[in-house]
Amino acid sequence: MIIKTKVNTTARTEFVNITDILQKLISKQKISDGTCIVFVPHTTAAITINENADPDVVKDILMMLDRKIPLRDSNYEHSEGNSSAHIKASVIGSSVIIIIENGKLKLGTWQGIYFCEFDGPRTREFWLKLI
Ligand code: ZN
Repeated sequence: MIIKTKVNTTARTEFVNITDILQKLISKQKISDGTCIVFVPHTTAAITINENADPDVVKDILMMLDRKIPLRDSNYEHSEGNSSAHIKASVIGSSVIIIIENGKLKLGTWQGIYFCEFDGPRTREFWLKLI
């Protein structure tokens, strides 16, 4: 079974912390020990795990991605005009695997799970598979 969940993003580029949403979904399934795969079925959005304590870390990641993979470049050929979003999505990746122990996501102290929007705002989704 795959659990599909919608995410409404509010900016062109944005990281949405989905850690609590994922933990609630896992708690409902009453799984004790295992793993989960979180997959993003989009070509201009991604998923990553990073710092959950200082919000400046996410700001810095977004700032540096914008600097290294700019929105506009005269050499982009993709006619839709969102090549930077496609490239960022591939750089960050479309899935993460997380260990579940005693019904809880087993994350490091400072870690959170982020849905990464690179071509918003849009209604998006992520898929959760428990194993
Ligand atoms: Zn495109």
